[in-house]
Amino acid sequence: MKIAVYSGSFDPITKGHEDIIRRAAKMTDKLVVAVLNNINKNYLFSLEERTAMVINSLRDLENIEVKNFQGLLTDFMKENKIEFIIRGLRAVSDYEYELTIAFANGDISKGKAETIFIPASKQYMYLSSSVVREIANYEGKLSDYINEDVEMKIRDKIKTQGSR
Ligand code: ADP
Repeated sequence: MKIAVYSGSFDPITKGHEDIIRRAAKMTDKLVVAVLNNINKNYLFSLEERTAMVINSLRDLENIEVKNFQGLLTDFMKENKIEFIIRGLRAVSDYEYELTIAFANGDISKGKAETIFIPASKQYMYLSSSVVREIANYEGKLSDYINEDVEMKIRDKIKTQGSR
């Protein structure tokens, strides 16, 4: 059984993330989407909110499991018997960072964790959660970047909490 993990903050999940997940799900028997909880990071959405949006966005996919994690990805992989890491590659700027992480994960897992890069689709090449948060702060158009459920949640969040 080929089990892979796709991890991220998903603050919030974008159509770029969704695109990678849907393409990766076709290549794996099971894809674990791991929502990262980094205690040093200041998120717009709580871990519970981020996880709920991920679950909601992927409801129609059968071979997906959504989990939370903190700490080392390779430890999480060992606990969950996962061999493959899926990463999305956007513009050239992602490349160096992603390659460093891929080498590090390979080294600390003694070669067990294999990273698979999937190129971002053209329309999502420059899309990130931070761009979405920025556009939302200024009440700009978001429908190309996030699904309706996520758009409702981010508009509500900014209304109740003010811009960040
Ligand atoms: P973000 O910065 O959007 O919160 P993360 O840093 O949590 O995303 O990254 C999670 C994974 O998703 C990484 O592999 C990243 O390259 C990938 N990713 C993020 N946005 C996109 C996108 N628009 N297209 C393809 N992959 C993406």
